[in-house]
Amino acid sequence: MRQVRPGAPPSTEVVAGLEAVANEAGARIGMIRALTCSQVQASTDSLTGLLNRRSLEDALRPVLREGRQYAVVEADLDHFKVLNDTHGHETGDRALRLFAGVVKRALRPGDLACRLGGEEFLLVLPDCDLQEAERVTERLRDSLVLALVTGATPGFTASYGLADSRYHGEDFESLLTMADAALLDAKRAGRDRMVAAPG
Ligand code: GH3
Ligand code: MG
Ligand code: MG
Repeated sequence: MRQVRPGAPPSTEVVAGLEAVANEAGARIGMIRALTCSQVQASTDSLTGLLNRRSLEDALRPVLREGRQYAVVEADLDHFKVLNDTHGHETGDRALRLFAGVVKRALRPGDLACRLGGEEFLLVLPDCDLQEAERVTERLRDSLVLALVTGATPGFTASYGLADSRYHGEDFESLLTMADAALLDAKRAGRDRMVAAPG
């Protein structure tokens, strides 16, 4: 075996070998990064960074499998078309991002939030009953008011429809239908409020 003096510079073969290993590792790390990034992009809404509907349903599956109670909160921004028409689409986008930020901060670990599309959002709160969901929504409403004081968007409000798997059935689709009907009631009653599905 060839003796190497301590402190001696590495031979050109050693340097070349190390370079090859480093290049290979770099390429692999780049590939993993790109893959992770495209997975995140596929599962999140590009404007708000919230989950999209499909990834929310994926994340909810274990909760349903374990038969855990959960509540859903459907939110829809009020008169959003007017905000867009008055202040422009860019401002509308900023308002959507601001609302998403408020939602993210209002949630606890394990809660799920998605943008259903347009100016509609869905929160799923595992191990949460209707009363707790009402408290979460009330907190969210307060945080929205606060965020709008300092936010760079014109003021806006949202309406909310709530349903709970214990009162309104465990099936996700029917729970959504109940929350949707409650949201419609909130709109009809004048907006800027939450309504729980009857039952
Ligand atoms: P309501 O209080 O009854 O919910 O009235 P609304 O005006 O919020 O509801 P409507 O369904 O009439 O209008 C929704 C608007 O949301 C229309 C559309 O231009 C706007 N919108 C949907 N997606 C986006 C988006 O990604 N960015 C922006 N800026 N606007 C969007
Ligand atoms: Mg809508
Ligand atoms: Mg709306």
